[in-house]
Amino acid sequence: MSYVLAIHGGAGTIKAGGDEAPFHAVLQAALAAGEAILKSGGSAQAAVVAAAMALEDCPLFNAGHGAVFTSAEEHELDAALMDGVTLRAGAVATVRRVKNPILAAQAVLEEGRCVLLGGEAADEFAEQAGLQIVANDYFSTALRRTQLTAVQAAHPQGVALDHSAPTRFGTIGAVALDLHGNLAAATSTGGMTNKRPGRIGDSPLIGSGTYANNASCAVSATGTGEHFIRACVAFDVHARIHYGQATTADAAHAAIHQSLRSVGGEGGIIVVGRDGTVAMPFNSIGMYRGVVRQGHGAQTHIF
Ligand code: ASP
Repeated sequence: MSYVLAIHGGAGTIKAGGDEAPFHAVLQAALAAGEAILKSGGSAQAAVVAAAMALEDCPLFNAGHGAVFTSAEEHELDAALMDGVTLRAGAVATVRRVKNPILAAQAVLEEGRCVLLGGEAADEFAEQAGLQIVANDYFSTALRRTQLTAVQAAHPQGVALDHSAPTRFGTIGAVALDLHGNLAAATSTGGMTNKRPGRIGDSPLIGSGTYANNASCAVSATGTGEHFIRACVAFDVHARIHYGQATTADAAHAAIHQSLRSVGGEGGIIVVGRDGTVAMPFNSIGMYRGVVRQGHGAQTHIF
C-alpha cells in the first residue's frame, strides 16, 4: 500500500494570466504538510486536517483567514471531516469565532456525540475543546470586501462562487489514502460571497460536499453548494463505485458531468479511491488543485 494526498483550493470562473505563482506555492506547502504525516505512517485523517489547516491560514483561499463576506458583512464558516475506516464524521456550520474550523470539525468527530454542530454553540464547543478563538474580523481581507461590493452592485441578493467573483480564490479540501489503506476527507469554506446569514452550504454536509468510506473513496467538493446538496455529489461518487462497480475515475466524472450537471451546478471534486486512484473532475473553467503520491513529486494545477 502506498500513500496519496490530493487537495483543492476551490473551483470557478478563474481567469488565466496574472500571478499564479503564490497559489502554486501555497498548494505545494499544504501538500508538504499533509505528506509529512503520511510519510511517517500517520493517518489519512491527520494528513487531511494538516493540509486543510495550511490552506485555512492562507488568505488566498476562501476558508479561515481570507473567507468571503456574508450579506451582513461578516464571516460564517463551514467545515467537515470524515474518517473512512470508522465512518465517524464531524462538522461545524456557520461558526464565527474558531480560528481553524477544520479543527472544530475534528473535535466534533472525536467527541462523537453528534455529527454536525451549528452556530454559536459550535463556537462555544470549540472554545471548550481548547481551540484558538479569534474576533470575526480576523477572517476579513480587503480583497473579500471588494468582492462583496462588486457582487452586491450587480444584484443585492446575488451570490457568487468567490473564484467567479472579480478575484479568484476558493473553498479548500483534502482527501488522502494512508499507508494503512485508510481514507479520509476534509473540506472548509467561507461559503459564497454575499450569502444570506445562516445559509449553510454543501461543505459541512456529509454526503454532499464531504464523504469518506474505505469501501470506495474519499471526496471533497467545491462549487455552487445548493446544487451539490441537491445532487448529494460526494455520496453519488461513493454509490457509483460501491453499488455500481464503477471505477473511481468514471464515478467522479459522472458525478460532475451527469449528476451535478443535471441540477445545473458548477464546480468540481477531488477523489481518491481505495486503490489510490485520484480523479479531480470539474465543469468550471478552473479548479485549484494538487496531488502528491508516494515516490513522486507534488504537482499543482489551476486549469
Ligand atoms: N461549496 C461552497 C459553498 O457552497 C462554496 C465553494 O466551494 O467555493 O458553500
